[in-house]
Amino acid sequence: MHVTMIGAGYVGLVSGACFADFGHIVTCVDTDARKIDALRRGEIPIYEPGLADLVAANVKAERLFFTTSLKEGLEKAEAVFIAVGTPSRRGDGHADLSYVYQAARDIARAISRYTVVVTKSTVPVGTGDEVERIIRETRPDAEFAVVSNPEFLREGAAIADFKRPDRILVGTEDERAQQVMAELYRPLYLNQAPVLFTARRTAELTKYAANAFLATKITFINEIADLCEQVGANVQDVARGIGLDNRIGSKFLHAGPGYGGSCFPKDTLALIKTAQDYKAPIRIVETVVSVNDQRKRAMARKVIQALGGSVRGKAVGVLGLTFKPNTDDMRDAPSISIITALQDAGAHITAHDPEGVAQAKLVLDDVAYVDTPYAAAEGADALVIITEWDAFRALDLKRIHALMKSPIVVDLRNIYRPDEMAALGFAYQSVGRG
Ligand code: NAD
Repeated sequence: MHVTMIGAGYVGLVSGACFADFGHIVTCVDTDARKIDALRRGEIPIYEPGLADLVAANVKAERLFFTTSLKEGLEKAEAVFIAVGTPSRRGDGHADLSYVYQAARDIARAISRYTVVVTKSTVPVGTGDEVERIIRETRPDAEFAVVSNPEFLREGAAIADFKRPDRILVGTEDERAQQVMAELYRPLYLNQAPVLFTARRTAELTKYAANAFLATKITFINEIADLCEQVGANVQDVARGIGLDNRIGSKFLHAGPGYGGSCFPKDTLALIKTAQDYKAPIRIVETVVSVNDQRKRAMARKVIQALGGSVRGKAVGVLGLTFKPNTDDMRDAPSISIITALQDAGAHITAHDPEGVAQAKLVLDDVAYVDTPYAAAEGADALVIITEWDAFRALDLKRIHALMKSPIVVDLRNIYRPDEMAALGFAYQSVGRG
């Protein structure tokens, strides 16, 4: 099948490359000419494990193409995916749908045959209706159906998630569109991935419900971690103890500095706004957002306390900047709030991240970036682990100890054991291990 992907970002590029890998012919369209030029030169504009090889193989096999011209991209397409950004709108927290609606207008102008228009971007309930209205208004003659097909991949494991999803959600009651979608995803349900057909609004809301539930799970264990610290309990054991219950499940029960990233913060906010607009407020998610916001500054206070109550003039080394490991994505990373709060309190920050430095430089000022974890520890009054990259899990701790000015480690991801760290002579703090 011929497929067009509008937006060649984390979701569009991964989905496009995976569809091409299944044998479809995919054209990725992006308005960012620099991104398209880079992709044409064989450079991958983001860091996602395995993506460079997947893109290269499918470009070579002539199944994956890149262009800035939607007209060119849409000529033969049976399905066109909208995979553009839907960030928080400045000021009110609603999803900013301007990129989605612009894509809809672009599609309306370029459409030339029956086309299934698929919204892959995370969009509030009713956006599909508006996309349909925009296309119909611009091109009353066009033959098309608008489908919601939210994406559940996780950055850092995006290819495996796309190719082996827990489920594929397709929101449309149009039979012809259902057939096109079934054909498109056929290689996947040969692998037994369940395809769930629902009404379009249901699919749109399901994506937000999923992200809000996961954000709630994280926030729940973070508050349990705070209580563990007060009562002398261990949050990792509590998480194991509840997670082995099948009704709860062990994933997303890792206490840490609070969730961040390109999805949970903006999607929880957008869900809250939708729910308020429809007079069905979701108080539990409102609380989750507020607890999570406060948590990041609380993590900075934890570092300040570990340093005896003041960081003025102190050197703080930071390991990990991206919102999670195996990505270069810095959008709403907890490191931003934590580092900014430490700087406000007078600390000097030296940081290391395996892939995130280029993006970090765009959002953090006055940070000295270094190439190794050891350089971040050198001369530091404290070392703070913010992102649990594998490369930080087996550091030469004796060397770290020798390099630091004072051996204080604040591990916000619980990747080391308190007893081992104490035995090595560190003053060690972690999350929820009282
Ligand atoms: P991104 O910012 O990485 O990519 C969006 C791309 O769309 C950019 O390259 C931009 O230049 C391009 N674009 C914008 N308007 C365009 C237009 N009119 N025509 C062509 N290109 C255009 O965003 P992302 O992280 O890939 O997220 C895309 C959507 O997928 C969002 O709604 C997000 O919530 C959702 N989502 C993201 C993830 C994730 O892990 N990143 C997971 C699931 C769902």
